[in-house]
Amino acid sequence: MTRRTLLVGAGAGVLGVLLASCTPEPVPTPTPTSPSPKPTPSGDGPTPSAFARSAWTTDPFSRGAASFTPVGTQPSAREALAAPVGDRLFMAGEATDADAPGTLSAALRSGLRAAEELLDVAVEGERVAVVGAGLAGAAAVSRLLAAGLEVTVFEGRDRVGGRVRSVVDEESWPFPAQLGGWLVGEDGAEMGERLDALDIRTATLETPAWRSAEGEVEPVPDQRITDAVAAAQLLPADSSLADALAAAGADIEEPGLAALLAAVSASTGIAPDEASSWFPPALPAASPTVALGDLGSVFDSLLEGARMSLSSPVSRVAHDDRGVSLGIATGESLSFDRVVLTVPLGVLQSDGIEFSPALPFSHRGAIAALGMGRIETIWLRFDEPLIETDAALWHVVGGEALIRTWYSLAPATGENVLVGIVGGASAAEFADLDDDDALAAALSSLAVFTASGG
Ligand SMILES: Cc1cc2nc3c(=O)[nH]c(=O)nc-3n(C[C@H](O)[C@H](O)[C@H](O)COP(=O)(O)OP(=O)(O)OC[C@H]3O[C@@H](n4cnc5c(N)ncnc54)[C@H](O)[C@@H]3O)c2cc1C
Repeated sequence: MTRRTLLVGAGAGVLGVLLASCTPEPVPTPTPTSPSPKPTPSGDGPTPSAFARSAWTTDPFSRGAASFTPVGTQPSAREALAAPVGDRLFMAGEATDADAPGTLSAALRSGLRAAEELLDVAVEGERVAVVGAGLAGAAAVSRLLAAGLEVTVFEGRDRVGGRVRSVVDEESWPFPAQLGGWLVGEDGAEMGERLDALDIRTATLETPAWRSAEGEVEPVPDQRITDAVAAAQLLPADSSLADALAAAGADIEEPGLAALLAAVSASTGIAPDEASSWFPPALPAASPTVALGDLGSVFDSLLEGARMSLSSPVSRVAHDDRGVSLGIATGESLSFDRVVLTVPLGVLQSDGIEFSPALPFSHRGAIAALGMGRIETIWLRFDEPLIETDAALWHVVGGEALIRTWYSLAPATGENVLVGIVGGASAAEFADLDDDDALAAALSSLAVFTASGG
């Protein structure tokens, strides 16, 4: 147990000034991500002994997985979104980071940046709130607490972590199933350092395998994409990644290239026809490092000492030159001197929070211009290996597979755990499936690996 103070509901004696105008609103309920019960697969294929899946696309507290820069949008939109509003409202979250948006390290950095901006203008004894207990919010809280401020956190869900979720269930999983962000290393170096400091186990996944129904196929090199992007970047106007590839003579329906593009969508949430070629999505890491431990301890360490109000979705943010009032969907309103707002771009785009006065045009322009990508994941554990292979990075080429990108954790851990990752339009399709259909789609996507027997 940590020393976090847990408040029951938002109004439990916290510093509050009730706003007369506030009426209770229904509290949105996230679509549950499912560690259990295990669905029943139909057909004769292998049956997993454990199953977990995500549904971030339909979750009202994320409404997607990771922000992206759509074709025609400049990264400066992120700086506009990050700007403080009247020295009262400080904006954080991965979407406000121009360097590596959509990542864990972006979230971490943004929270620290927003906290510094707040500390530049705050005076001793001020009351500060942080909205959202994801990585950005938790990082902001740790910095504000270290500066001696008393901090109250309002989190819409009944748990902390946001788009990071480690399912800890020792009966089902040899290590936690990670349903959100879990890749660290490369642009996630800052996150990697945090995991090291907390002794959280990681593994590096190596060796690709590309397979079609006919067997092993040649990997498609990243250069197919980088060359097309380089040519498109010389043009007078931005074009989509799909158009850039077409202009370079590539057919994005060609099975090998489609599998590579599926891997790009799986790591960024972007579909090729949405992505900018001037500001293209990052290509997947060749040897990703993944977290295998419980990422909940990252949040416990960052949030230790904060006053926590879980299940408290903020539905209204009213601010003037004297302070900020937060309206909670359960009916209460509370006043603070300054607030750090870390809700995802998808929540801002959905009008889930009413701002009074409205956010400045520059913020609203940025919210409208940026895109929210979709990533979903499914974890499967089998009693026996599906195939004997040293390859950890599986690409499904051709056919009708919904999930073309898989990580096998067997080479790194000795455990028969497979992780399917799907992005872009296919992720939206996956999120709409019930558990039985999601499992069926996963097993049928894996058929090119299971049918060949190694
Ligand atoms: C499936 C998936 C895989 C990913 N993989 C990777 C990866 O491997 N590597 C990587 O670097 N990144 C990855 N990401 C992205 C990474 O997880 C995010 O960039 C990061 O976690 C975002 O942190 P954040 O604090 O900005 O937002 P969030 O974690 O979304 O935190 C925002 C918080 O605000 C809360 N909230 C929302 N609305 C309200 C409201 N009205 N009132 C109060 N609280 C509210 C939410 O519940 C949430 O807790 C992945 C994301 C997903 C979904």
